[in-house]
Amino acid sequence: MRAFHVGDILVSSFIEREGPWRAPTVMFPTADKATALAHLKKMSPEVYDAAQDLLVITYQSFVVRTPKHNILIDTCVGDHKPLRGPALEYSKQPWLDGFAAHGLQFEDIDYVFCTHLHVDHCGWNTRLINGKWVPTFPNATYIFGKKEYEAWEAMALEEERNERRSVVWEDSCLPVVEAGQAKLVEADFELEDGIWLTPAFGHSPGQVCVNFRSKSDHAIFTGDMMHHALQCVEPDWSTCFCPSPEEAAESRKRILASVADTDTIVIPAHFPGQTAGYVDSAGDAWRWRTMEFDNGIPTREGGKQTMPV
Ligand SMILES: [Zn+2]
Repeated sequence: MRAFHVGDILVSSFIEREGPWRAPTVMFPTADKATALAHLKKMSPEVYDAAQDLLVITYQSFVVRTPKHNILIDTCVGDHKPLRGPALEYSKQPWLDGFAAHGLQFEDIDYVFCTHLHVDHCGWNTRLINGKWVPTFPNATYIFGKKEYEAWEAMALEEERNERRSVVWEDSCLPVVEAGQAKLVEADFELEDGIWLTPAFGHSPGQVCVNFRSKSDHAIFTGDMMHHALQCVEPDWSTCFCPSPEEAAESRKRILASVADTDTIVIPAHFPGQTAGYVDSAGDAWRWRTMEFDNGIPTREGGKQTMPV
């Protein structure tokens, strides 16, 4: 993703993995293939691998540099994590290289926000050092939604049969709390003027979006409120990972309606390429417009994934 400014804030990202990932009808169990293909035909080829019938999904972390803080949003899958499954056992070197390419060291991060605590959003919260999980960012305060954290804690403690999910909480979240570096907050938490959360429950029990306002600019990191531009035009399509698909759809529609036809920059976790973009209303639904640049300035004109109405 090409870096851009939100007022005085610089936003960039680095990638852990990218490329074709899941078929549309696997990712969205209520989708029908013909409808999905009709929509995808109108979108940029970068969002869908037609030859393999796979949606293109990026796993990435975002770096937000405000005049006062270095902030990391979502920490991908992480390294040396047990029981994550073969699909997530790819090399994690690109993430380390990407982080270093920002000229940052782990010590430089002031805040880590996890939009939610799924396996691909909290992995680099910790590293394995001498057989022990320790916070990767020693000087950071980690912001976890209280509702989200407590839900996974309860699942970890009560559903021992659900071993894989429990492990994520145990190795990537609990050690941060035990180190005294976690701040469990409400879903409308405000860190300071211009940095605040809004709820996006449904994809996970307590998912939140992270908002930044600087000067007159507004950007919202939406986590997994949507995984693909298809969900703008078909907002009822929740993913196979959503425990509450209807609540996820309600959250999606509320957020899409709130940003539609505004200059709010929307940054979904998994969109490939430029990732960031804008939302336009289109009849009863919406369409996605990827950010483009004009003389280095983000512009909402001429986006590549425009869906003609
Ligand atoms: Zn995700």
